[in-house]
Amino acid sequence: MAAQILDGKSLAAALRAALKQKVDVLVQRGVRPGLAVILAGDEAASRVYVRNKTLAAEQVGVRSQLHEFKSDVVESTLLQKISALNADPAIHSILVQLPLPRQINAARVLEAVAPAKDVDGFHAANLGALLAGRPGAVPCTPAGVMRLLEHAGVALAGRHAVVIGRSNIVGKPLALLLLQKDATVTICHSKSGNLSEIACRADVLVAAAGRAKLVTAPMVKPGACVIDVGVNRLADGKLAGDVDFDAVRQVAGWITPVPGGVGPMTIAMLLENCVRAAAREESAS
Ligand code: NAP
Repeated sequence: MAAQILDGKSLAAALRAALKQKVDVLVQRGVRPGLAVILAGDEAASRVYVRNKTLAAEQVGVRSQLHEFKSDVVESTLLQKISALNADPAIHSILVQLPLPRQINAARVLEAVAPAKDVDGFHAANLGALLAGRPGAVPCTPAGVMRLLEHAGVALAGRHAVVIGRSNIVGKPLALLLLQKDATVTICHSKSGNLSEIACRADVLVAAAGRAKLVTAPMVKPGACVIDVGVNRLADGKLAGDVDFDAVRQVAGWITPVPGGVGPMTIAMLLENCVRAAAREESAS
């Protein structure tokens, strides 16, 4: 039987509708959540991502500001802008769109964002909180994956979860979140060597490598849940994930499509982090 499709697009739409109601309540109390986006350089893909995020923000009633910089921007200019946004009471969340131009030290720029306004959860303080199991902003893509699994009722406790990819923004935080739900977690990367052998033992297999068709049907245990985080632009201009969707859906129990799976959930989690930051500030004032 073909796998059940995990429809991130509709779940994200439902989450956005719920967030809109929360924003309406905050606005009635005099607080409109504010999101500032820093976009440096002229990467077409980044521009599309930023447009989608700011549009989604406006739709739920979050006020967004876009701060654009040319690709030859110097680091101190970005740091000054972040410092001003950190001090701006109308801004509850700051998003630095990656990648930054080559001359910029991305780690230094991300660390300049106040942890309470770090909507992406990339600041070391928030990543550390995640590691320690303390409250903090959780990176949006891993949070979106967990929400999809939860919504579909995929069992995690005692199950073997395999995450392909070990980046600080997807693979590592997702592995920690799966561990928090009592999964037994294996992280694979480009030096893992025996990827197929490890993958085919997974009850939950997450592909976050950025390699089209890396995960093929023989690598998937029958009935497993396969989450495709990858976004790859093919030669014909189409988007594809890391999973050979048509073949794998014949074997898996659940599968996410690309597009329409993890991508919309990432944006929904970003908005959730932003609204939560505004609500926290409102209740503190
Ligand atoms: P990244 O920083 O480039 O990390 C990729 C990871 O995959 C690395 O850990 C790398 O291993 C590993 N890898 C690469 N090739 C591999 C192979 N053949 N076998 C096993 N592991 C391999 O990428 P990222 O930022 O984590 O993003 C991963 C993918 O998710 C990209 O396609 C990105 O566009 C997509 N993404 C999607 C969303 C969304 O909302 N849908 C959000 C974020 C990212 P090493 O560490 O050894 O190099």
